[in-house]
Amino acid sequence: AIDFKWIEDNKEAVAANIKNRNSNASIELVLELYEKTFNLQKEVERVRGERNAVANKMKGKMEQSERQRLIEEGKSLKDQLAALEEQLVKLTDELQQEAQCIPNMTHPDVPIGGEDSSRIRKMVGSPRKFSFVPKDHLQLGKELDLFDFDAAAEVSGSKFYYLKNEAVLLEMGLLNWTLSEVMKRGFTPLTTPEIVRSSVVEKCGFQPRGTNTQVYSIDDSDQCLIGTAEIPVAGLHMDSILAESLLPLKYVAFSHCFRTEAGAAGTATRGLYRVHQFSKAEMFIFCRPEESEHYHEELITMEEDLFSSLGLHYKTLDMASEDLGAPAHRKFDVEAWMPGLERFGEISSASNCTDYQSRRLGIRYRPSGPPTTSANTKKAKGNLAPPRFVHTLNATACAVPRMIICLLENYQQEDGSVVIPEPLRPFVGGLNIISPK
Ligand code: AMP
Repeated sequence: AIDFKWIEDNKEAVAANIKNRNSNASIELVLELYEKTFNLQKEVERVRGERNAVANKMKGKMEQSERQRLIEEGKSLKDQLAALEEQLVKLTDELQQEAQCIPNMTHPDVPIGGEDSSRIRKMVGSPRKFSFVPKDHLQLGKELDLFDFDAAAEVSGSKFYYLKNEAVLLEMGLLNWTLSEVMKRGFTPLTTPEIVRSSVVEKCGFQPRGTNTQVYSIDDSDQCLIGTAEIPVAGLHMDSILAESLLPLKYVAFSHCFRTEAGAAGTATRGLYRVHQFSKAEMFIFCRPEESEHYHEELITMEEDLFSSLGLHYKTLDMASEDLGAPAHRKFDVEAWMPGLERFGEISSASNCTDYQSRRLGIRYRPSGPPTTSANTKKAKGNLAPPRFVHTLNATACAVPRMIICLLENYQQEDGSVVIPEPLRPFVGGLNIISPK
């Protein structure tokens, strides 16, 4: 449930936040629709009351003509009510659509501005110095027979690929290694549905409809392909009240991800960097509100540990307000050095979505202590404390294609072979080097 009362009471802060995030949400429109919905709801209740009053009157004795008049009045009220209820459904839908565009509030430490305003939190390592001219992953993949982009273009279209030979072992190995590392820290592994209802995508803060959507939707259905496992994992506990003792719930989910990459023209699109389908292991946490900042730090530290153990040179960024998307309150990205592409490229992202997704998805928990003195206390049943919305966080553990770019480009040798970093070797059948065939 979106808290419209809160939005109304904090309209200046919400409007400033919309501006800081360069969002196209309109608070004026939301509040106007909210007022209209509120008034229409009252009208529906009034007409319903009148109709019930007429129905009650008809239970008594009366002249035939009076009965006939009441029947007609009842029928007219019934028609009026049906029309008003239909309007209310439409208006509520419109209100939800508009309100869902309002972004989450922003953490006070987040730098305000566009991409260039993002702040570096940490820099690890330095670019590898090559004694030869390093190749990019496309060249390496060609020489080592690891990809087929041409056949994929024929079969599926541009920005698709086949992985071949050791690249397949790398994909599976990276995922298995990541899952085993993350599971050691108490995360429950999941595989998820990769087709979900559009309403769940919306409630997670993404736009499944419209012209510039990143989401592939399925014709003649209310379903779409997922762009990330964040969606089905967020939905795992929707419309429920969790016991406090269950929190934090920590998951690591494997899924394929599908993205239209609308609007990505002109950005780095070579090879595996920006593709329509890829596999990813995603971490997700449901926790108490007061703990979400702590778990956000835990997630970014876990990502850093994973990338450090693969020996990557990377930086961690506190992303600026315009780069947060709608659901995140704060977002930390990791960018790794890709020597063949001669630049840093984003390899992961960790977001604290606070109660943005849980409100829309209806995910609450019941505090186990005695009721607090909050305004909700009166509504609590018996001596149970009233439920509160959990906070949700998500973070990339391993998005395969860009990891493959990093490994090939950073670990290439002068003879065209690629050394596999130590921790991955047990997960790729003991392979320690990919050599030209
Ligand atoms: P996001 O869910 O957008 O934060 O993306 C998480 C990670 O998935 C990114 O850091 C990239 O490593 C990877 N990724 C996102 N989009 C693509 C894409 N179109 N092709 C390949 N990898 C991607």
